[in-house]
Amino acid sequence: MARLTINNLVKRFGDFTAIDNLSLDIADGEFITLLGPSGCGKTTTLRSIAGFIEPDEGDILFDQKRVNDIPPNKRSTAMVFQSYALFPHMTVKKNIAFGLKMKKVNKTEAEKRISEAIELVGLTGLEGRFPKELSGGQQQRVAVARALVMQPDILLFDEPLSNLDAKLREKMRVEIRELQRKLKITAIYVTHDQAEALVISDRVVIMNKGVIQQIGKPTDVYNRPNSAFVADFIGTANFIDGTVKEKLEADTWLLETEIGNIKTMTEYQLALGDQVLLSVRPEDLLMEKGSENTFQGVITTQTYMGNFVDYHVEVAGKSLRIQSNGKQLFEEGDSVQVHFRPEDCTIVEMKDVNQHE
Ligand code: ATP
Repeated sequence: MARLTINNLVKRFGDFTAIDNLSLDIADGEFITLLGPSGCGKTTTLRSIAGFIEPDEGDILFDQKRVNDIPPNKRSTAMVFQSYALFPHMTVKKNIAFGLKMKKVNKTEAEKRISEAIELVGLTGLEGRFPKELSGGQQQRVAVARALVMQPDILLFDEPLSNLDAKLREKMRVEIRELQRKLKITAIYVTHDQAEALVISDRVVIMNKGVIQQIGKPTDVYNRPNSAFVADFIGTANFIDGTVKEKLEADTWLLETEIGNIKTMTEYQLALGDQVLLSVRPEDLLMEKGSENTFQGVITTQTYMGNFVDYHVEVAGKSLRIQSNGKQLFEEGDSVQVHFRPEDCTIVEMKDVNQHE
């Protein structure tokens, strides 16, 4: 186990800045996910931690010790790759044993670690098989066992489940999470799958264009996105433009918006006349009359999805997406009342800000 600190990391490829002044502090035993769109710098960050990439600026510290100049094989990290990277001509057991052999770990110790790892990942009985005789999920378990036997301080995952089908991915992400909890190893996991990040992580780091946009617990980044980018990248969001009209209570404000007056709660210090962008999740919009924030709309599309119904509802000329549990089914053309709670709409951007006192 180790604490990982990254201070002001910069990595350029020619004129292009892949990581732009990234700082991050990861606690002992914490499970962190780097999440973001393709090309945002997740893998470059992970490979810098492993030592495969040399940063241009900044420091990487394991337990407060700078490791920039320490080669990858001396860093006490182990990586699980998307492609599994198993040796095809070696059995499961030999694949798992390989790193220990390279490190010249003595035979008794190696045997003990190998059988523990095989048991941990649930591969008992398959030790003598070759990779081509295993399913995708079993191959991924070998890759995880191969990393675990090295007893790394920090476990690195580079999109390890991308090659598996959706059902298996859901199962494996829970397995990885449980294993990490049991072993309490500091883990850094790269993915562009937001659902995976929310399920697996203690904290999620959302990146865009080499920069961290937000760091937080899954519930924080989902319910309190700090920007339109995060609100849109994690889940789906309706964005509504508004202007601050009145202060109602300490943290409750009335906004004049493109769909009518909206009451919102925020920790932002606002001033009258500030222009803001609001985000409301489709599942927080309810098709019923509420005591506040109720609007009249017309259903323009209805898509039945089984566990929910996806609607587009036009309110004052604006199309809002609503996901409803489908207990009460509306049809296209129906007039409906739409309502959401003040705490369920989040200010994600301050646009034109007046002078605050
Ligand atoms: P993905 O989800 O597609 O794997 P990522 O967030 O992991 O994306 P990186 O692989 O870290 O992204 O790449 C970040 C940016 O740096 C990309 O624009 C990529 O093209 C660029 N890049 C990465 N490695 C190199 C390299 N060796 N030479 C030049 N550019 C590179």
